[in-house]
Amino acid sequence: PYRFDRSLAEFARAQRVIPSGIPGHLGPTEGLHLPHDRFPKFAARAEGTRFWDVDGNEFLDYMCGYGPNVLGYRDPDVDAAARAQAEREDVVTLPSTVMVDFAELLVDQVASADWAFFAKNGGDTTTLAIMTARAATHRKKIVFIKGYYHGVAPWTQKLDYPGVLEEDVVHNLYAPWNDLDALRRTFAEHRGQIAALIAQPYMHGNFVDNELPAPGYWQAVRALCDEHGVVLVVDDVRAGFRLDLAGSDHHFGFNADLITFCKAIANGYNVSALMGTDALKDVVSSITYTGSYWMSAVPFAAGIATQRKLRELDAPALFERLGTRLTDGLVAAAADTGFTLVASGAPALFYLRLDDPQRSLRLHQEWIAECVGRGVFLTSHHNHFLNAALTEADVDRTVEIAHDAFTALRSRHPEAA
Ligand code: PMP
Repeated sequence: PYRFDRSLAEFARAQRVIPSGIPGHLGPTEGLHLPHDRFPKFAARAEGTRFWDVDGNEFLDYMCGYGPNVLGYRDPDVDAAARAQAEREDVVTLPSTVMVDFAELLVDQVASADWAFFAKNGGDTTTLAIMTARAATHRKKIVFIKGYYHGVAPWTQKLDYPGVLEEDVVHNLYAPWNDLDALRRTFAEHRGQIAALIAQPYMHGNFVDNELPAPGYWQAVRALCDEHGVVLVVDDVRAGFRLDLAGSDHHFGFNADLITFCKAIANGYNVSALMGTDALKDVVSSITYTGSYWMSAVPFAAGIATQRKLRELDAPALFERLGTRLTDGLVAAAADTGFTLVASGAPALFYLRLDDPQRSLRLHQEWIAECVGRGVFLTSHHNHFLNAALTEADVDRTVEIAHDAFTALRSRHPEAA
């Protein structure tokens, strides 16, 4: 198994000058990568579907930078387009027309949308979506689906979170996923007060099995939003362009009013987009919303090259095929060693849980650590991501390594179900 001495030493160095060392979900302090000392902390190099950590260990990577790596790290076509743009200009007093080119491409590609507004992070676009819905409807309340994640802005948080005020979240309402009756009750109870419903295209929350929409669910939600004059916001930051290049609302057979994209938009170059219908274009125009780097030209050029290549490869079909091969293989490897592995969500963004009668995550975390220590980077609490540089041979190698990891787990836990 791999050793992570250099990673751990670098992490100690980081903790002295950076709050929590590695902030957020890439760091160990949220307790997500357990046991902490069996995970690498810093990467040194990446290419295709692999990265190498600072100890020189190689990983087949199923997290893809938590999403942005959609074509493979350092994709030559995307990097060439970015380099060519960088040689002309990037952050300048006026934007480049490459911004317009990228907006045209996305408007053409995304089925429900007539315009694109660019920012940097997913959270920039979900926040603008909520402001737009409130400005358009002159209403205050927002309906969230339980298990949601829409970023870190105060409006997305729960009341007991450090630094969040009651005023930030007092207009938030919550409904369970796939439960139309609950949604109907919430809409009826707050009739005339709800500005928006914001939801991921399917329930891809952390620490829980992911859940696709029940047949007819989204169509009924769309009708309910129309009936109540509620803006329907689809947060496609995570799933966007991995299920369907025309948007995940298109994939599930409905049209959002507003849809947000970020992770798979430009293969790691920094841009996000809020897209929407003509009916909301003037409202967005009325909101001054901007940032120092939001019109940087290089990510637009990278985004154009990324989306073209995703189309050429028919990447969503590739992800469906490889994701199914992988999850089928992992589930079979578990069964072969007497374990039950549950794979959920879309194959392109598969979620894994090792079934444990004690309903604890411990066994699963131990198996994940065994995989990571053998060069397959999986995670214990979050959906995974595929990229188009992945091959069938990579998938088959992954299943072999996972089988070795299960065998090691079995020898330590002869009793486990
Ligand atoms: N919405 C969803 C569904 C996400 O997965 C994320 C990021 N994980 C965000 C919003 C926030 O995006 P960002 O971290 O780029 O602000």
